[in-house]
Amino acid sequence: MTTLTFALSKGRIFDETLPLLAAAGLHPAEDPEQSRKLIIGTNMAHVSMLIVRASDVPTYVQYGAADLGVAGRDVLLEHGGEGLYQPLDLEIGQCRMAVATRRGFDWAGSVQRGGRLRVATKYVRTAREHFSAKGMHADLIKLYGSMELAPLTGLADVIVDLVSSGNTLKANDLVAVEDIMPISSRLIVNPAALKLKRDRMQPLIAALARAVRERRAA
Ligand code: ATP
Ligand code: MG
Repeated sequence: MTTLTFALSKGRIFDETLPLLAAAGLHPAEDPEQSRKLIIGTNMAHVSMLIVRASDVPTYVQYGAADLGVAGRDVLLEHGGEGLYQPLDLEIGQCRMAVATRRGFDWAGSVQRGGRLRVATKYVRTAREHFSAKGMHADLIKLYGSMELAPLTGLADVIVDLVSSGNTLKANDLVAVEDIMPISSRLIVNPAALKLKRDRMQPLIAALARAVRERRAA
């Protein structure tokens, strides 16, 4: 019997994917926040879940260690998307990628002057492409978290980060000065697995697509 392995990250993605999976009839046997297990069974004997770091989800699916997974567009752009199908926008994890600066930083002037900009971000690839398309010289500094600190400490002039309510920026005296793109999470699939396990995979993808449509209509 063919089995399906689903890669998910803990936290926001897991929490927001859960109702979609439930609508597709799939229920994890354990809560990854409570359990230390990294492989979690489900009510469907042939489906199991892998709990991995958000930025590792595309890697597991690309190499076929997981058959499918859920990853943010932010993560997929950094990964590059090689060896992945992206059949479905799940419309969860919605936020935007934006440029933010310290309040009072002369962003307009700095764009106009076209000088070098120090940019701190977790999203080096996306940020590089964004500034290069604008014809701006950006020196990129890779960070792994707490990006809000960078402009406050003088590490960088601006950050590129995900923004939803803007409360974190506000609490740190930062302002979003430019939107880069809207972000949401996608279903990603290993192409070989889709071929070999089509009988198992296709109904699951269809059920998730239906769940997304129903959620949108609600
Ligand atoms: P790690 O904790 O492994 O470093 P992470 O901090 O990126 O990863 P999360 O904060 O759970 O993990 O984010 C996972 C995904 O959720 C992101 O890749 C993004 O697509 C989405 N996301 C992140 N922040 C927000 C937000 N404020 N609003 C909506 N979606 C978000
Ligand atoms: Mg995190």
